Amino acid sequence: MAFIMGSMSEVNDCVNTGHGTMEDSGEQKVELTMLGTGNAAVTRCYNTCFTIRNGGQVLLVDGGGGNGILARLEQAGVALADVHDVFLTHTHTDHIFGVVWVLRMVAQAMNAGKYSGKLHIYGHGEGLLALETICRLTLPGKVCRHIHDDILLHGLADGEAFMAAGMSARAFDIGSTKAKQYGFCMQLPDGQRLCCLGDEPFNERADVYARGADWLLCEAFCLYADRERFKPYEKHHSTALDAGRLAAGLEVRNLLLYHTEDKTLPTRREAYSAEAAVHFLGSVYVPEDMERLSL
Ligand SMILES: [Zn+2]
Repeated sequence: MAFIMGSMSEVNDCVNTGHGTMEDSGEQKVELTMLGTGNAAVTRCYNTCFTIRNGGQVLLVDGGGGNGILARLEQAGVALADVHDVFLTHTHTDHIFGVVWVLRMVAQAMNAGKYSGKLHIYGHGEGLLALETICRLTLPGKVCRHIHDDILLHGLADGEAFMAAGMSARAFDIGSTKAKQYGFCMQLPDGQRLCCLGDEPFNERADVYARGADWLLCEAFCLYADRERFKPYEKHHSTALDAGRLAAGLEVRNLLLYHTEDKTLPTRREAYSAEAAVHFLGSVYVPEDMERLSL
């Protein structure tokens, strides 16, 4: 508790200080592209991962479960040469293995003289150690030699600030009971605050980062109405109804739901939105894979 209180002033750069800080109308809107929206076991969409683009700078958050990340980035029009910041939330297979592929392709582009600058990968130390270990076990030396040279692994402490895609952000431990996991909050250029809660239900320790956010990115494994079918609570996940209740309690403006089941995709947007709206009066977004949102 003392740490949380003590960190309050430090998180001010990521805590709501009101709107209206946009300095000139020529400011570029920040774009979020959902490369995947599914949970770990999906086959009809890709695992949850996304990019946040600020002008020419791109932050990739997680990589999904594998090589599919490369096709998703290509379809989204994101050149690997433009990706210089990656945030890895945790080591689960549906998040980390795509990052291995991104690291590999960036290193190969470096070798070919087609990538300038450095690749920065942020996360907690355990996650980055796992990433490095997988890379060293599975990728050739000419790729791995870039690690700690021009591919930098930044192990962040709980509550530590970092810069990504030209925006200030802060990582925080979501208090997972499974694998250690970080979420993050980020200050957008126009003064809005985005908070990503990772892929597990909300924990009180995230309150200081999430409360009053303009954008809350939150998992919803399935509908509450479908809880007997998909058993979200056994898997330590929550539902669209839970997410709506959470968003209302945290007084956020916009709620984005991801990391869902893939058996109801044709009706997902409408049904999840309706359930979240039972408690939450703000805007609810249930994006499809490859959907782009202007933040
Ligand atoms: Zn996951």
